[in-house]
Amino acid sequence: MSEAIARCVKCRRALWTDELAAGCWACRRCEEVAARQLRELPDLFHKADRTAALAKDSRTDVGGGHGAGSSAPVKIQVLSLTANGGAVATLQAIEDAWRATLAWSMGETRHRADIDGATGFLINNLRWACESYPEIAHDLHTVARLHGQLSSIDTGDKALRRIIFHCAGDDCDGRFPGNINSQYGTCPNCDAEYDRDALMRLDSDWGPNTIRNCPAA
Ligand SMILES: [Zn+2]
Ligand SMILES: [Zn+2]
Repeated sequence: MSEAIARCVKCRRALWTDELAAGCWACRRCEEVAARQLRELPDLFHKADRTAALAKDSRTDVGGGHGAGSSAPVKIQVLSLTANGGAVATLQAIEDAWRATLAWSMGETRHRADIDGATGFLINNLRWACESYPEIAHDLHTVARLHGQLSSIDTGDKALRRIIFHCAGDDCDGRFPGNINSQYGTCPNCDAEYDRDALMRLDSDWGPNTIRNCPAA
């Protein structure tokens, strides 16, 4: 009775018996979500890469990127995700860490646009990682963040983008929705209240610190 409940390291849900039997760190549902996101990344990436090529052209036209208007933050984000050191490098870093844990030889260094190779390895080994890799939660968050960032570029959505805020309370894993204009929010888990300034300093599905990382609508 005093035994601590084993929870998914990503969503904190109590693990089912079969997940416990498999020794899971992350639950099957989180595994499925990540697998879907990884499968969708190549398409999203290729669309963003085309957008980046267009952004580069227009930047050359205006001679340096000043005064590019409201699309400037999106352009910078597109460029940073599709350039050297972007999404493919981020996924490769995860792959290298998994390979090291498995005592496998390091993979090849991928071209900045080899998103198929970068996602393929992770898809093939995701089951192992969710069951046997204690640091998997961080990687699942990273995949979700890349997917969110590339999706927002893909849609070019003009509406206010939905942000899922992460409660900052100790031992609270509460999540609640809002947007970049939200004036206040309340964690559904621990009832912590946040005013606008506090909200914008919270982590979100876009990454740490909403102000810096949530793309402008
Ligand atoms: Zn989970
Ligand atoms: Zn909370």
